Amino acid sequence: MKNALIYCRVSTEEQVKEGYSLDAQEKFCAKFAENDDYRIVGVFRDEGKSATTLDRPALQDLLAKCQQDDSVDAVFVQETDRLARNTKDHLTIRAVLQKAGVKLVSVAQPMLDDSPEGNMIDTILASVNQFQSDLNSRKTKKGLQERFDQGWWPGWVPLGYLNVGVGGNADGRKAKKIVKKDPEKWDLIKEAFKLYLTDNYSVQEINDILYKKGLRSKTNKKVPHSVLTTTFKNPFYAGLMKWNGQEKKGNHESMISMAEHYRAVRIMENHNQHACRRRKHTFLLRGFVLCNICGQRFTADKVSGKNKEYYHCSNRDKHSNQGQNIQVKDLEEIIEEQFKTIQFSPAFTARVIEKVKEIFNDKKDKINEQKHALYNKQRAIEIKRDTAEEKLFKSIITDDDFVRIRDKFRIDVQQIQDQVEKLDKQRELDIDTVQEILKLTRNIYETYKTAPFWLKRQYLGLFWDKFMVQDKQIQQAVPTDLILRLQEESKVLIRKDWLRGQDSNL
Ligand SMILES: [Zn+2]
Repeated sequence: MKNALIYCRVSTEEQVKEGYSLDAQEKFCAKFAENDDYRIVGVFRDEGKSATTLDRPALQDLLAKCQQDDSVDAVFVQETDRLARNTKDHLTIRAVLQKAGVKLVSVAQPMLDDSPEGNMIDTILASVNQFQSDLNSRKTKKGLQERFDQGWWPGWVPLGYLNVGVGGNADGRKAKKIVKKDPEKWDLIKEAFKLYLTDNYSVQEINDILYKKGLRSKTNKKVPHSVLTTTFKNPFYAGLMKWNGQEKKGNHESMISMAEHYRAVRIMENHNQHACRRRKHTFLLRGFVLCNICGQRFTADKVSGKNKEYYHCSNRDKHSNQGQNIQVKDLEEIIEEQFKTIQFSPAFTARVIEKVKEIFNDKKDKINEQKHALYNKQRAIEIKRDTAEEKLFKSIITDDDFVRIRDKFRIDVQQIQDQVEKLDKQRELDIDTVQEILKLTRNIYETYKTAPFWLKRQYLGLFWDKFMVQDKQIQQAVPTDLILRLQEESKVLIRKDWLRGQDSNL
Protein backbone atom coordinates (compact mmCIF):
# COMPACT_ATOMS: atom_id res chain seq x y z
CA MET A 1 0.00 0.00 0.00
CA LYS A 2 1.23 3.47 -0.89
CA ASN A 3 1.28 6.40 1.53
CA ALA A 4 -0.29 9.78 0.87
CA LEU A 5 -0.52 13.19 2.48
CA ILE A 6 -3.42 15.58 2.05
CA TYR A 7 -3.04 19.35 1.82
CA CYS A 8 -6.00 21.70 2.29
CA ARG A 9 -6.12 25.47 2.36
CA VAL A 10 -8.95 27.91 2.77
CA SER A 11 -8.69 31.67 2.54
CA THR A 12 -10.70 33.95 4.76
CA GLU A 13 -13.09 34.86 1.92
CA GLU A 14 -13.57 31.25 0.90
CA GLN A 15 -14.51 30.04 4.34
CA VAL A 16 -18.15 30.84 3.72
CA LYS A 17 -18.29 29.23 0.28
CA GLU A 18 -19.78 25.82 -0.03
CA GLY A 19 -17.40 23.01 -0.88
CA TYR A 20 -14.35 24.99 0.14
CA SER A 21 -14.23 24.26 3.86
CA LEU A 22 -11.18 22.42 5.11
CA ASP A 23 -13.30 19.44 6.09
CA ALA A 24 -14.92 19.27 2.67
CA GLN A 25 -11.53 19.41 0.95
CA GLU A 26 -10.08 16.76 3.22
CA LYS A 27 -13.04 14.44 2.75
CA PHE A 28 -12.92 14.90 -1.02
CA CYS A 29 -9.20 14.15 -1.20
CA ALA A 30 -9.39 11.23 1.24
CA LYS A 31 -12.12 9.52 -0.73
CA PHE A 32 -10.14 9.86 -3.93
CA ALA A 33 -6.90 8.67 -2.33
CA GLU A 34 -8.54 5.62 -0.78
CA ASN A 35 -10.09 4.69 -4.11
CA ASP A 36 -6.58 4.79 -5.54
CA ASP A 37 -5.31 2.46 -2.80
CA TYR A 38 -3.45 5.04 -0.81
CA ARG A 39 -3.21 5.13 2.96
CA ILE A 40 -3.51 8.65 4.40
CA VAL A 41 -0.57 9.21 6.72
CA GLY A 42 -0.95 12.94 7.31
CA VAL A 43 -3.27 15.88 6.75
CA PHE A 44 -1.95 19.44 6.53
CA ARG A 45 -4.34 22.35 6.80
CA ASP A 46 -3.78 26.07 6.35
CA GLU A 47 -6.60 28.34 7.36
CA GLY A 48 -7.15 31.98 6.52
CA LYS A 49 -3.68 32.25 5.03
CA SER A 50 -2.77 34.18 1.96
CA ALA A 51 -2.65 32.24 -1.28
CA THR A 52 0.09 34.39 -2.66
CA THR A 53 3.01 33.37 -0.49
CA LEU A 54 4.90 30.25 0.42
CA ASP A 55 4.73 31.47 3.99
CA ARG A 56 2.11 29.01 5.18
CA PRO A 57 3.08 26.85 8.15
CA ALA A 58 1.21 23.67 7.20
CA LEU A 59 2.53 23.79 3.62
CA GLN A 60 6.06 24.23 4.93
CA ASP A 61 5.57 21.23 7.25
CA LEU A 62 4.22 19.18 4.38
CA LEU A 63 7.15 19.99 2.09
CA ALA A 64 9.60 19.22 4.91
CA LYS A 65 7.93 15.87 5.53
CA CYS A 66 8.09 14.99 1.83
CA GLN A 67 11.80 15.75 1.78
CA GLN A 68 12.62 13.82 4.97
CA ASP A 69 10.26 10.88 4.86
CA ASP A 70 10.90 8.36 2.08
CA SER A 71 7.67 6.52 2.78
CA VAL A 72 5.53 9.35 1.36
CA ASP A 73 4.43 8.53 -2.20
CA ALA A 74 1.92 11.22 -3.04
CA VAL A 75 0.31 14.50 -2.05
CA PHE A 76 -3.37 15.00 -2.69
CA VAL A 77 -4.94 18.43 -3.16
CA GLN A 78 -8.42 19.38 -4.30
CA GLU A 79 -7.14 21.75 -6.96
CA THR A 80 -3.70 23.08 -7.72
CA ASP A 81 -4.72 26.59 -6.72
CA ARG A 82 -4.76 25.26 -3.13
CA LEU A 83 -0.97 25.07 -3.39
CA ALA A 84 -0.18 28.35 -5.09
CA ARG A 85 -1.77 31.02 -7.16
CA ASN A 86 1.34 32.20 -8.91
CA THR A 87 3.52 30.31 -11.32
CA LYS A 88 6.80 30.82 -9.54
CA ASP A 89 5.60 29.41 -6.21
CA HIS A 90 3.81 26.68 -8.06
CA LEU A 91 6.91 25.58 -9.94
CA THR A 92 8.96 25.75 -6.74
CA ILE A 93 6.56 23.45 -4.93
CA ARG A 94 6.40 21.04 -7.87
CA ALA A 95 10.18 20.96 -8.07
CA VAL A 96 10.48 20.11 -4.37
CA LEU A 97 7.94 17.31 -4.69
CA GLN A 98 9.48 15.95 -7.87
CA LYS A 99 12.93 15.89 -6.31
CA ALA A 100 11.57 14.02 -3.30
CA GLY A 101 9.92 11.50 -5.61
CA VAL A 102 6.46 12.49 -4.44
CA LYS A 103 3.60 12.49 -6.90
CA LEU A 104 1.21 15.43 -6.89
CA VAL A 105 -2.41 14.49 -7.39
CA SER A 106 -4.97 17.19 -8.00
CA VAL A 107 -8.31 15.54 -7.40
CA ALA A 108 -10.53 17.97 -9.30
CA GLN A 109 -8.13 18.24 -12.24
CA PRO A 110 -7.51 14.66 -13.28
CA MET A 111 -5.29 15.54 -16.23
CA LEU A 112 -2.28 16.48 -14.18
CA ASP A 113 0.59 14.06 -14.47
CA ASP A 114 4.35 14.27 -14.52
CA SER A 115 4.78 14.19 -18.28
CA PRO A 116 6.09 17.38 -19.92
CA GLU A 117 2.68 18.21 -21.30
CA GLY A 118 1.04 17.62 -17.96
CA ASN A 119 3.58 20.03 -16.55
CA MET A 120 2.88 22.52 -19.28
CA ILE A 121 -0.88 22.52 -18.86
CA ASP A 122 -0.41 22.69 -15.14
CA THR A 123 1.86 25.68 -15.49
CA ILE A 124 -0.47 27.43 -17.89
CA LEU A 125 -3.30 26.88 -15.44
CA ALA A 126 -1.23 28.31 -12.61
CA SER A 127 -0.42 31.35 -14.74
CA VAL A 128 -4.01 31.77 -15.58
CA ASN A 129 -5.15 31.35 -11.99
CA GLN A 130 -3.09 34.41 -11.30
CA PHE A 131 -4.55 36.11 -14.33
CA GLN A 132 -7.94 35.49 -12.72
CA SER A 133 -7.05 37.23 -9.50
CA ASP A 134 -5.79 40.12 -11.58
CA LEU A 135 -9.09 40.28 -13.46
CA ASN A 136 -10.91 40.27 -10.15
CA SER A 137 -9.06 43.32 -9.00
CA ARG A 138 -9.56 44.98 -12.37
CA LYS A 139 -13.31 44.51 -12.04
CA THR A 140 -13.17 46.22 -8.66
CA LYS A 141 -11.26 49.03 -10.30
CA LYS A 142 -14.08 49.47 -12.77
CA GLY A 143 -16.38 50.46 -9.91
CA LEU A 144 -13.78 52.88 -8.65
CA GLN A 145 -13.40 54.35 -12.13
CA GLU A 146 -17.14 55.06 -12.28
CA ARG A 147 -16.91 56.82 -8.95
CA PHE A 148 -14.01 58.92 -10.20
CA ASP A 149 -15.90 59.78 -13.39
CA GLN A 150 -18.79 61.03 -11.28
CA GLY A 151 -16.43 63.40 -9.51
CA TRP A 152 -15.98 61.54 -6.21
CA TRP A 153 -12.68 60.35 -4.81
CA PRO A 154 -12.56 56.57 -5.27
CA GLY A 155 -10.65 55.64 -2.12
CA TRP A 156 -9.91 56.72 1.41
CA VAL A 157 -10.36 60.47 1.57
CA PRO A 158 -7.49 62.58 2.90
CA LEU A 159 -7.39 64.20 6.34
CA GLY A 160 -10.12 66.77 6.81
CA TYR A 161 -12.66 64.96 4.62
CA LEU A 162 -15.12 62.13 5.17
CA ASN A 163 -16.92 59.67 2.93
CA VAL A 164 -20.60 60.00 3.83
CA GLY A 165 -23.42 57.76 2.60
CA VAL A 166 -26.56 59.52 1.36
CA GLY A 167 -29.92 58.25 0.11
CA GLY A 168 -30.86 54.63 -0.44
CA ASN A 169 -31.35 52.16 2.38
CA ALA A 170 -35.13 52.04 3.00
CA ASP A 171 -36.02 50.69 -0.45
CA GLY A 172 -33.03 48.37 -0.54
CA ARG A 173 -30.85 50.58 -2.71
CA LYS A 174 -27.26 51.04 -1.70
CA ALA A 175 -26.37 54.41 -0.23
CA LYS A 176 -24.32 56.64 -2.51
CA LYS A 177 -21.11 57.79 -0.92
CA ILE A 178 -20.13 61.41 -1.26
CA VAL A 179 -17.21 63.38 0.15
CA LYS A 180 -17.91 65.95 2.85
CA LYS A 181 -15.98 68.09 5.29
CA ASP A 182 -14.87 66.28 8.42
CA PRO A 183 -16.31 68.62 11.08
CA GLU A 184 -13.67 67.50 13.60
CA LYS A 185 -10.60 67.98 11.46
CA TRP A 186 -11.46 70.51 8.75
CA ASP A 187 -10.48 73.66 10.66
CA LEU A 188 -7.29 72.09 12.00
CA ILE A 189 -6.04 71.03 8.57
CA LYS A 190 -6.99 74.38 7.15
CA GLU A 191 -4.89 76.04 9.81
CA ALA A 192 -2.03 73.62 9.06
CA PHE A 193 -2.01 74.79 5.44
CA LYS A 194 -2.02 78.41 6.58
CA LEU A 195 1.05 77.79 8.73
CA TYR A 196 2.85 75.79 6.07
CA LEU A 197 2.25 78.44 3.41
CA THR A 198 4.05 81.02 5.55
CA ASP A 199 7.20 78.91 4.97
CA ASN A 200 8.16 79.57 8.58
CA TYR A 201 7.32 76.12 9.94
CA SER A 202 8.57 72.62 9.25
CA VAL A 203 6.09 69.75 8.84
CA GLN A 204 7.31 68.47 12.21
CA GLU A 205 6.59 71.76 13.97
CA ILE A 206 3.13 71.98 12.45
CA ASN A 207 2.43 68.42 13.52
CA ASP A 208 3.32 69.33 17.12
CA ILE A 209 1.05 72.37 17.04
CA LEU A 210 -1.86 70.37 15.63
CA TYR A 211 -1.38 67.63 18.19
CA LYS A 212 -1.68 70.16 20.99
CA LYS A 213 -4.86 71.46 19.38
CA GLY A 214 -6.34 67.97 19.36
CA LEU A 215 -5.61 66.44 15.93
CA ARG A 216 -5.41 62.66 16.24
CA SER A 217 -4.94 59.75 13.85
CA LYS A 218 -7.49 56.93 13.55
CA THR A 219 -5.67 55.11 16.32
CA ASN A 220 -5.91 58.21 18.50
CA LYS A 221 -2.22 59.06 18.20
CA LYS A 222 -0.20 61.81 16.61
CA VAL A 223 -0.70 61.86 12.84
CA PRO A 224 2.35 60.25 11.18
CA HIS A 225 4.83 62.71 9.69
CA SER A 226 4.50 61.10 6.26
CA VAL A 227 0.73 61.58 6.24
CA LEU A 228 1.04 65.27 6.92
CA THR A 229 3.75 65.60 4.25
CA THR A 230 1.46 63.94 1.71
CA THR A 231 -1.34 66.24 2.82
CA PHE A 232 0.61 69.38 1.94
CA LYS A 233 1.45 68.02 -1.53
CA ASN A 234 -2.03 66.73 -2.28
CA PRO A 235 -3.94 68.67 -4.99
CA PHE A 236 -7.17 67.17 -3.65
CA TYR A 237 -7.31 70.05 -1.14
CA ALA A 238 -7.41 72.48 -4.08
CA GLY A 239 -10.29 70.53 -5.61
CA LEU A 240 -8.26 68.49 -8.11
CA MET A 241 -8.37 64.68 -8.12
CA LYS A 242 -5.36 62.86 -9.56
CA TRP A 243 -5.97 59.16 -9.83
CA ASN A 244 -4.57 56.39 -12.00
CA GLY A 245 -2.95 58.80 -14.41
CA GLN A 246 -6.12 60.85 -14.76
CA GLU A 247 -7.10 64.30 -13.54
CA LYS A 248 -10.51 65.62 -12.74
CA LYS A 249 -12.09 68.39 -10.75
CA GLY A 250 -13.82 66.80 -7.77
CA ASN A 251 -17.27 67.61 -6.46
CA HIS A 252 -15.90 68.08 -2.96
CA GLU A 253 -15.37 71.48 -1.40
CA SER A 254 -11.80 72.71 -1.76
CA MET A 255 -9.85 73.85 1.27
CA ILE A 256 -7.19 75.91 -0.51
CA SER A 257 -6.83 77.58 -3.91
CA MET A 258 -4.84 76.10 -6.77
CA ALA A 259 -2.26 78.88 -6.38
CA GLU A 260 -1.85 77.95 -2.73
CA HIS A 261 -1.40 74.32 -3.71
CA TYR A 262 1.42 75.16 -6.11
CA ARG A 263 3.04 77.31 -3.46
CA ALA A 264 2.89 74.45 -0.94
CA VAL A 265 4.50 72.10 -3.46
CA ARG A 266 7.27 74.61 -4.13
CA ILE A 267 7.95 75.05 -0.42
CA MET A 268 8.20 71.30 -0.02
CA GLU A 269 10.56 70.96 -2.98
CA ASN A 270 12.85 73.59 -1.46
CA HIS A 271 12.89 71.76 1.87
CA ASN A 272 13.59 68.45 0.20
CA GLN A 273 16.25 69.53 -2.22
CA HIS A 274 18.80 67.16 -0.79
CA ALA A 275 16.51 64.30 -0.03
CA CYS A 276 15.53 63.47 -3.57
CA ARG A 277 15.11 59.74 -3.79
CA ARG A 278 15.44 57.68 -6.94
CA ARG A 279 12.34 56.16 -8.29
CA LYS A 280 12.24 52.43 -7.71
CA HIS A 281 11.48 50.59 -10.86
CA THR A 282 11.46 47.00 -11.95
CA PHE A 283 12.57 46.35 -15.47
CA LEU A 284 10.74 43.73 -17.45
CA LEU A 285 13.79 41.73 -18.47
CA ARG A 286 15.50 41.73 -15.07
CA GLY A 287 17.15 38.33 -14.63
CA PHE A 288 16.52 37.12 -18.16
CA VAL A 289 19.25 38.94 -20.08
CA LEU A 290 22.97 38.17 -19.75
CA CYS A 291 26.09 39.70 -21.24
CA ASN A 292 27.51 37.46 -23.95
CA ILE A 293 31.02 38.80 -23.33
CA CYS A 294 31.37 38.16 -19.61
CA GLY A 295 28.24 36.28 -18.61
CA GLN A 296 27.07 38.92 -16.09
CA ARG A 297 23.45 39.94 -15.83
CA PHE A 298 22.19 43.04 -17.49
CA THR A 299 20.82 45.78 -15.32
CA ALA A 300 18.94 48.87 -16.37
CA ASP A 301 19.27 52.54 -15.55
CA LYS A 302 17.78 55.82 -16.43
CA VAL A 303 20.43 58.06 -17.95
CA SER A 304 20.41 61.33 -16.04
CA GLY A 305 19.65 64.32 -18.20
CA LYS A 306 18.24 62.29 -21.06
CA ASN A 307 14.83 60.80 -20.79
CA LYS A 308 16.06 57.40 -21.87
CA GLU A 309 16.52 54.09 -20.12
CA TYR A 310 19.24 51.62 -21.02
CA TYR A 311 19.97 47.99 -20.29
CA HIS A 312 23.66 47.32 -19.89
CA CYS A 313 26.08 44.72 -18.57
CA SER A 314 26.35 45.06 -14.79
CA ASN A 315 30.08 44.40 -15.12
CA ARG A 316 30.97 47.43 -17.14
CA ASP A 317 34.33 48.01 -15.45
CA LYS A 318 35.89 44.72 -16.49
CA HIS A 319 35.58 44.92 -20.24
CA SER A 320 34.84 47.38 -22.95
CA ASN A 321 31.26 48.43 -22.76
CA GLN A 322 31.03 48.96 -26.51
CA GLY A 323 27.74 47.75 -27.82
CA GLN A 324 26.45 46.62 -24.45
CA ASN A 325 24.30 49.68 -23.90
CA ILE A 326 20.92 49.09 -25.40
CA GLN A 327 17.77 51.12 -25.00
CA VAL A 328 15.18 49.46 -22.81
CA LYS A 329 12.47 49.76 -25.40
CA ASP A 330 14.69 48.32 -28.16
CA LEU A 331 15.79 45.25 -26.21
CA GLU A 332 12.25 44.59 -25.02
CA GLU A 333 11.07 44.68 -28.62
CA ILE A 334 13.76 42.24 -29.74
CA ILE A 335 12.82 39.85 -26.95
CA GLU A 336 9.15 40.19 -27.85
CA GLU A 337 10.06 39.07 -31.38
CA GLN A 338 11.66 35.93 -29.91
CA PHE A 339 8.22 34.74 -28.91
CA LYS A 340 7.40 34.36 -32.59
CA THR A 341 9.85 31.48 -32.67
CA ILE A 342 7.86 29.29 -30.31
CA GLN A 343 4.71 27.56 -31.30
CA PHE A 344 2.76 24.67 -29.86
CA SER A 345 2.15 21.77 -32.19
CA PRO A 346 -1.44 21.46 -33.43
CA ALA A 347 -1.76 18.12 -31.64
CA PHE A 348 -0.65 19.64 -28.36
CA THR A 349 -2.95 22.63 -28.79
CA ALA A 350 -5.83 20.27 -29.46
CA ARG A 351 -5.06 18.32 -26.30
CA VAL A 352 -4.90 21.49 -24.20
CA ILE A 353 -8.20 22.71 -25.61
CA GLU A 354 -9.83 19.38 -24.94
CA LYS A 355 -8.64 19.35 -21.33
CA VAL A 356 -9.61 22.95 -20.77
CA LYS A 357 -13.07 22.23 -22.15
CA GLU A 358 -13.41 19.30 -19.80
CA ILE A 359 -12.43 21.33 -16.74
CA PHE A 360 -14.61 24.28 -17.55
CA ASN A 361 -17.66 22.30 -18.57
CA ASP A 362 -17.33 20.63 -15.24
CA LYS A 363 -17.17 24.00 -13.52
CA LYS A 364 -20.10 25.26 -15.56
CA ASP A 365 -22.20 22.26 -14.53
CA LYS A 366 -21.37 22.88 -10.90
CA ILE A 367 -22.31 26.54 -11.19
CA ASN A 368 -25.57 25.73 -12.95
CA GLU A 369 -26.40 23.21 -10.28
CA GLN A 370 -25.83 25.79 -7.57
CA LYS A 371 -27.90 28.36 -9.45
CA HIS A 372 -30.71 25.90 -9.85
CA ALA A 373 -30.72 25.20 -6.12
CA LEU A 374 -30.85 28.94 -5.43
CA TYR A 375 -33.78 29.45 -7.79
CA ASN A 376 -35.66 26.68 -6.01
CA LYS A 377 -35.00 28.36 -2.70
CA GLN A 378 -36.26 31.66 -4.08
CA ARG A 379 -39.40 30.03 -5.47
CA ALA A 380 -40.13 28.52 -2.05
CA ILE A 381 -39.88 31.95 -0.44
CA GLU A 382 -42.17 33.45 -3.07
CA ILE A 383 -44.77 30.80 -2.38
CA LYS A 384 -44.60 31.56 1.33
CA ARG A 385 -44.99 35.26 0.56
CA ASP A 386 -48.08 34.54 -1.57
CA THR A 387 -49.56 32.57 1.31
CA ALA A 388 -48.90 35.47 3.65
CA GLU A 389 -50.66 37.82 1.23
CA GLU A 390 -53.71 35.59 1.16
CA LYS A 391 -53.77 35.49 4.94
CA LEU A 392 -53.63 39.27 4.95
CA PHE A 393 -56.65 39.47 2.63
CA LYS A 394 -58.55 37.06 4.84
CA SER A 395 -57.49 39.13 7.87
CA ILE A 396 -55.82 36.13 9.47
CA ILE A 397 -52.71 38.18 10.06
CA THR A 398 -52.36 41.85 10.95
CA ASP A 399 -50.89 44.57 8.78
CA ASP A 400 -47.84 44.78 11.04
CA ASP A 401 -47.24 41.04 10.87
CA PHE A 402 -47.51 41.11 7.11
CA VAL A 403 -45.00 43.95 6.78
CA ARG A 404 -42.60 42.11 9.06
CA ILE A 405 -42.91 38.87 7.08
CA ARG A 406 -42.68 40.68 3.75
CA ASP A 407 -39.50 42.50 4.79
CA LYS A 408 -37.88 39.30 5.95
CA PHE A 409 -38.68 37.58 2.66
CA ARG A 410 -37.37 40.55 0.76
CA ILE A 411 -34.03 40.29 2.54
CA ASP A 412 -33.90 36.52 1.92
CA VAL A 413 -34.59 36.99 -1.79
CA GLN A 414 -32.00 39.74 -1.98
CA GLN A 415 -29.42 37.42 -0.45
CA ILE A 416 -30.24 34.72 -2.94
CA GLN A 417 -29.94 37.14 -5.82
CA ASP A 418 -26.56 38.29 -4.52
CA GLN A 419 -25.39 34.69 -4.54
CA VAL A 420 -26.64 34.19 -8.09
CA GLU A 421 -24.81 37.33 -9.13
CA LYS A 422 -21.63 36.00 -7.52
CA LEU A 423 -21.94 32.75 -9.46
CA ASP A 424 -22.46 34.65 -12.71
CA LYS A 425 -19.32 36.63 -12.00
CA GLN A 426 -17.38 33.43 -11.36
CA ARG A 427 -18.64 32.09 -14.64
CA GLU A 428 -17.50 35.25 -16.42
CA LEU A 429 -14.05 34.84 -14.91
CA ASP A 430 -13.94 31.22 -16.03
CA ILE A 431 -14.69 32.30 -19.56
CA ASP A 432 -11.95 34.94 -19.40
CA THR A 433 -9.59 32.23 -18.23
CA VAL A 434 -10.48 29.94 -21.10
CA GLN A 435 -9.93 32.79 -23.51
CA GLU A 436 -6.48 33.45 -22.09
CA ILE A 437 -5.47 29.79 -22.31
CA LEU A 438 -6.72 29.46 -25.87
CA LYS A 439 -5.01 32.67 -26.87
CA LEU A 440 -1.75 31.43 -25.39
CA THR A 441 -1.81 28.06 -27.09
CA ARG A 442 -2.73 29.54 -30.46
CA ASN A 443 -0.43 32.51 -30.54
CA ILE A 444 2.24 32.80 -27.92
CA TYR A 445 3.66 35.98 -29.43
CA GLU A 446 0.35 37.88 -29.51
CA THR A 447 -0.50 36.74 -26.00
CA TYR A 448 2.86 37.86 -24.67
CA LYS A 449 2.72 41.15 -26.51
CA THR A 450 -0.68 42.12 -25.11
CA ALA A 451 -0.16 40.77 -21.58
CA PRO A 452 0.13 43.14 -18.61
CA PHE A 453 3.61 43.63 -17.13
CA TRP A 454 3.50 40.96 -14.43
CA LEU A 455 1.99 38.36 -16.75
CA LYS A 456 4.72 39.12 -19.28
CA ARG A 457 7.27 38.22 -16.66
CA GLN A 458 5.37 34.98 -16.00
CA TYR A 459 5.43 34.12 -19.68
CA LEU A 460 9.10 35.01 -19.94
CA GLY A 461 9.82 32.58 -17.11
CA LEU A 462 7.57 29.95 -18.60
CA PHE A 463 9.28 29.92 -21.99
CA TRP A 464 12.77 31.34 -21.60
CA ASP A 465 15.69 30.54 -19.38
CA LYS A 466 17.95 33.33 -20.62
CA PHE A 467 19.02 35.51 -23.52
CA MET A 468 22.70 36.19 -24.26
CA VAL A 469 23.17 39.68 -25.68
CA GLN A 470 26.07 41.28 -27.53
CA ASP A 471 26.27 44.14 -30.03
CA LYS A 472 22.63 45.05 -29.40
CA GLN A 473 21.58 41.63 -30.66
CA ILE A 474 20.48 38.38 -29.10
CA GLN A 475 23.33 35.97 -29.68
CA GLN A 476 21.61 33.03 -28.08
CA ALA A 477 18.10 32.47 -26.78
CA VAL A 478 17.82 29.58 -24.33
CA PRO A 479 14.34 28.15 -23.73
CA THR A 480 13.40 26.61 -20.37
CA ASP A 481 13.93 22.89 -19.72
CA LEU A 482 10.19 22.43 -19.89
CA ILE A 483 10.01 23.87 -23.39
CA LEU A 484 13.05 21.86 -24.49
CA ARG A 485 11.46 18.66 -23.22
CA LEU A 486 8.24 19.48 -25.03
CA GLN A 487 10.27 20.13 -28.12
CA GLU A 488 11.89 16.71 -27.89
CA GLU A 489 8.43 15.23 -27.99
CA SER A 490 7.39 17.57 -30.79
CA LYS A 491 4.77 19.20 -28.59
CA VAL A 492 6.36 22.54 -29.21
CA LEU A 493 8.11 23.84 -32.29
CA ILE A 494 11.05 26.20 -32.03
CA ARG A 495 12.36 27.78 -35.20
CA LYS A 496 16.09 27.19 -35.02
CA ASP A 497 17.01 29.98 -37.40
CA TRP A 498 15.66 32.42 -34.83
CA LEU A 499 17.82 31.19 -32.03
CA ARG A 500 20.76 33.21 -33.30
CA GLY A 501 19.36 36.70 -33.16
CA GLN A 502 18.13 38.35 -36.32
CA ASP A 503 21.41 39.26 -38.01
CA SER A 504 20.16 38.20 -41.38
CA ASN A 505 17.36 40.74 -41.27
CA LEU A 506 19.60 43.73 -40.69
ZN1 LIG B 1 29.67 41.98 -19.65
